[in-house]
Amino acid sequence: MFRQIILGLGNNWLVEHTMQRYGMQLGAKRFVAGATLDEAIRVVRDLNDKGIGATLDHLGESVTQLTEANQARDSYLHMLDVIHREGIHSHVSLKLTMMGLALSKDVARDNLKQIVDKAREYGNFVRIDMEDSPVISDTLSLFQEAWGGYPQNVGIVLQAYLYRTMEDLKTMSETSKNIRIVKGAYMEPATIAFPSKPDVDDNYVRLVKYSLTHGNFTAVATHDQLIIGQILRFVKENHISSDTFEFQMLYGLKQSLLEELAKDGYQTRVYIPWGRDWYAYYLRRIAERPANLLFFARNLIKK
Ligand SMILES: Cc1cc2nc3c(=O)[nH]c(=O)nc-3n(C[C@H](O)[C@H](O)[C@H](O)COP(=O)(O)OP(=O)(O)OC[C@H]3O[C@@H](n4cnc5c(N)ncnc54)[C@H](O)[C@@H]3O)c2cc1C
Repeated sequence: MFRQIILGLGNNWLVEHTMQRYGMQLGAKRFVAGATLDEAIRVVRDLNDKGIGATLDHLGESVTQLTEANQARDSYLHMLDVIHREGIHSHVSLKLTMMGLALSKDVARDNLKQIVDKAREYGNFVRIDMEDSPVISDTLSLFQEAWGGYPQNVGIVLQAYLYRTMEDLKTMSETSKNIRIVKGAYMEPATIAFPSKPDVDDNYVRLVKYSLTHGNFTAVATHDQLIIGQILRFVKENHISSDTFEFQMLYGLKQSLLEELAKDGYQTRVYIPWGRDWYAYYLRRIAERPANLLFFARNLIKK
C-alpha cells in the first residue's frame, strides 16, 4: 500500500514540479551523485580508490520525443568517451525507455547499437536496466539482439519479484550471459509478481544460485545482508570462482558493507545515478522503505 501511494506520485505533475525544484535539498542527494557528470565522476574516483567499480546511469526514462531519445544516446556516447579518457573503472547502465522504446523498438534498437558499438571500441560494458512489465519482453528481445553482436559488452537485469523470471533465466542461460539479478523496484500486480516479500526473497536466492551454477557472470545486486551471507556460503561450498560474480549496490546505500566485501577480495560495483531527471528514481528509493519518508520529512522541516 505504502509503495503504491509513493510510486503513484510519479503521475502527479504538481508534486513532480515541486520536487524537481527543491528535491535535491529535500534529500534526493542521498541517492543521486549529482546533477552533472563531473560530480558523478568524482564519486567514481573515490570508489575506485577503495577498489570498488562503478556503473554510471544518466537519469531519465519514458521519453516521448525523438530529440530527447537522441540526446540521451549522445549523453551515453559522451559518458563512454569520458570514462575512457579519465581512465576510471566504470561501466554504464541505461534504460531503453530513455533511448526511445516508447516511440518505437527501432529507435531504441538503433540508439542501443550505437552505444554498445562505442562500448566495444573501448572494451567497456553496457548494462540494460529492467523497467516495468509493459516493456520487459521488448527489453529482453533487444538485449538478445545486441548480445548476439557483442556478447562481452552488454548485459541485462532480471527481477526476482516476477513469476516469469526463472523461465527467462533458464532461456538466457542456454548461452552464458552477464546478468544482474535484483528484487524489482516497480509496482506490479499479483497476477504477474509475488505479492509477499518472503516469496520475492526466496525467489531471489533461487535465481542467483541458478545463475551462478549455469555459466553466467552474475551481478548479485542487493543490500540484503542475510541474502548476501547465504550467497557467500553458497559460493564457498560450491567452489564458485570469484571472477564469475560480483556484488552491486546503489549509490547511498550500505556502502560500508560493500567496502567490506571489496576488502575480502570480492568484485564490487556501485550503481551511480546522476542528472537532473532524478524524480522517478528517487520515488522508487523512497517506496522501498517507509523509514525513508521520515528522512524526507525531516529534510523538509529543516528547510
Ligand atoms: C545495482 C542495482 C541495480 C538495480 N537495477 C534495477 C533494475 O534495473 N530494475 C529494477 O527493477 N530494480 C533495480 N534495482 C533495485 C532493486 O530491484 C530493489 O528495488 C532494491 O535493490 C531494494 O531491494 P534489496 O535487494 O536491497 O532488498 P530489500 O529487502 O528491499 O532491502 C534490504 C535492506 O537494504 C536496505 N535498503 C534497501 N533499499 C533501501 C532504500 N531505498 N533506502 C534505505 N535502505 C534500503 C534496508 O536496510 C533493507 O532492509 C537495482 C538495485 C541495485 C542494487
